[in-house]
Amino acid sequence: FILGKKRATEVSHLVWKSVVQKGDTVIDATCGNGHDTLAMLKMVADESCKGSVYGLDIQEAALQITSSLLEESVSPSEKELVKLFSKCHSKMDEVLPKDTSVRLVAFNLGYLPGGDKTIITESETTLRALEVAKTIMVPEGLISLVVYVGHPGGWEELKTIRDFVSKLSVEKWICYEFQTVDRSWSPILIFLFKKC
Ligand code: SAM
Repeated sequence: FILGKKRATEVSHLVWKSVVQKGDTVIDATCGNGHDTLAMLKMVADESCKGSVYGLDIQEAALQITSSLLEESVSPSEKELVKLFSKCHSKMDEVLPKDTSVRLVAFNLGYLPGGDKTIITESETTLRALEVAKTIMVPEGLISLVVYVGHPGGWEELKTIRDFVSKLSVEKWICYEFQTVDRSWSPILIFLFKKC
């Protein structure tokens, strides 16, 4: 597990791999350009094609980019395991079949790289989405966040997430935060592991 030359998202993928199993159901709460959705699909897709990835984004453009990336990267039967929704992640429970529990909910916050930088994740909806995510996780599941602080509202969003984390039961959750200490604008990784 060498952090040195890895980007924050690559590090988060390594952590996901330690939790996610073939056949699992997972959620990409911020599809963006689809890189995380694709990484999740590779982790859950098993030979009998049983895993599921639910992807959400409020921008139709992001969902189209994600869909195209999947089309050029995986087989049609694997792509069918991904369901994309033009919806706020605070409503993620509404896209799941009844009584479905998920192994991983991943947030890669901020704006769409290469897109409109004024459309960003917002503290209020991020908090609501975390509250929902908390209720749909399997035991030993993971909520993963990549938080950017270099844009307006970024620090406020980080503070909102830290407040949410501080209220989680230590009996039920174990939470980690990673940051490169010599680069003040680098993304912050937050991992919330559900113990039971
Ligand atoms: N995971 C992406 C990838 O692998 O390329 C990058 C995500 S990008 C940093 C953040 C995305 O969050 C943007 O595409 C933006 O439209 C989306 N977003 C913003 N607010 C949202 C919300 N309330 N619900 C769902 N997606 C949202």
